[in-house]
Amino acid sequence: MIKSQLISTAFFTDKNDNWFPSESPFLINNKKYKVITMNQIHSDIIKVVSPMRKNYKCDGLYTTKKEYILCVKTADCVPILIHSEIGVGAIHAGWRGLSQNILGNFFENEKYYSDNLKVSIGPHARKCCYEVGKEFERIFPNHILTNHKGRYLDMSSYVSDYLEKLNIEFEDVNVCTICNDRYFSYRQDKTDDRQYSFLCI
Ligand SMILES: [Zn+2]
Repeated sequence: MIKSQLISTAFFTDKNDNWFPSESPFLINNKKYKVITMNQIHSDIIKVVSPMRKNYKCDGLYTTKKEYILCVKTADCVPILIHSEIGVGAIHAGWRGLSQNILGNFFENEKYYSDNLKVSIGPHARKCCYEVGKEFERIFPNHILTNHKGRYLDMSSYVSDYLEKLNIEFEDVNVCTICNDRYFSYRQDKTDDRQYSFLCI
């Protein structure tokens, strides 16, 4: 498991952790937390956690409450964990979410924005391995690398360029899910297994 260097309450699991979000409360230092997961649909939808809500059909979560752990599942998409002075957020961003501007929906929305945001970017498919078709040049004109082997999408720099533009402090754990065997990769072997990224306030 990777522990974020920037957000003390943010973690990224790998294959060896055997960690799954549980329906039952999670105990940390004898305090009870409820793990909130999403029914992720590659959208730009962000939802605020509410005790009334049973399901979260979305790709972003936000809460200002201490009792929740926000959880993203991925196997190549980009997990993004966010910590601010008043709340936390979690985003699942693949190429579809990024192209639909899920980052803007979170970071440029005053509902979620506050000073001193810190962002941790988890393991995802990186430019070393994420080969894409020619149509991606139109969707991500500034983040495609072409060499003699093919055309590669650089989601890492797409996200970091965006955060730099807004002057938001961030870290990238710098792990590629496709070429690192410790991580599940859908593109590598069509697996149904996922790793989890989670945080609380
Ligand atoms: Zn790689």
